[in-house]
Amino acid sequence: MKIFVYSNSNEESLKIKEELQERLTNQHEFSDKLDYSIQLVICIGGDGTFLRFLNAYDFPYVPILGINTGHLGFYQDFTYESLCKAIENFEHDNYSLQKLNPIRIQIKSSRGTEVKHSLNEVTIKAFGNYPLHLNVALDGQNVERFNGDGLLISSSAGSTAYNYSLGGSIVDPRLKLIQVSPIAPLNSTAYRSFTSSIVLPWDMTLSIKPELHKHQEKINIFYDGFTETYDDLEEISIRLSNSEVHLVRKGDYDFWTKAKEKFL
Ligand code: NAP
Ligand code: MN
Repeated sequence: MKIFVYSNSNEESLKIKEELQERLTNQHEFSDKLDYSIQLVICIGGDGTFLRFLNAYDFPYVPILGINTGHLGFYQDFTYESLCKAIENFEHDNYSLQKLNPIRIQIKSSRGTEVKHSLNEVTIKAFGNYPLHLNVALDGQNVERFNGDGLLISSSAGSTAYNYSLGGSIVDPRLKLIQVSPIAPLNSTAYRSFTSSIVLPWDMTLSIKPELHKHQEKINIFYDGFTETYDDLEEISIRLSNSEVHLVRKGDYDFWTKAKEKFL
């Protein structure tokens, strides 16, 4: 089998990467290029490492097996000890694949139109410490005029990350949806928005047009662990992507057991 290994730069992760290649070099071929011939990606690190891998390699379709060297990982299921068995199981088609849809973010600004993807969420916030005004439409229908710190749009897989810290709901990743959570909404007679999270079906498009006031031109867009700053943002359109991330899971993987272990 042809394998690509991605690792963060922690000492422990790099040691695992080295040992792994030494141990399996007789049975498998390791490549340092991720191309169409790769059958399995092994990602070593925490959830953040997994997110960085997806971003660096443009959300590839190839199955990814995560070895966790961070805290309890939602994406990274395996330990180094369980890895050889896991690879053997993978080779013999004895594994389960979790299919996750990232969020597709289309950004219109004076840079033109850009498209980005994120697996957890996208967050729209002001650049400085002042409230941001956002006009929000769902499938082209105006719904709310938001005023406050910002809005977070999360996938099901990202529901246990920043979304949860904001009081959003934990969503079973088998559900295809997007969740929109307000960050410190400031409701008045001029601007009104929902004060709880709202949940939208997978095929709905949310579009956000900022109302730019002179003193607050810059807007930050955070997607997974990344940031872009715009001073001329026109519109952001967000929906669930049709592409899928394929994550190799342990035989006894259960989302709610993981959620319980991390939060309760
Ligand atoms: P980081 O500073 O290491 O991370 C945030 C924490 O979130 C880490 O403990 C990370 O796990 C964990 N995490 C990432 N994805 C998760 C998921 N789907 N479910 C549960 N926990 C998850 O930064 P990072 O590792 O690059 O992660 C980026 C993420 O940080 C963003 O996508 C956002 O969700 C989150 N974030 C959270 C807050 C907040 O809760 N107030 C604020 C900003 C950003 P690992 O330790 O395994 O990496
Ligand atoms: Mn991290």
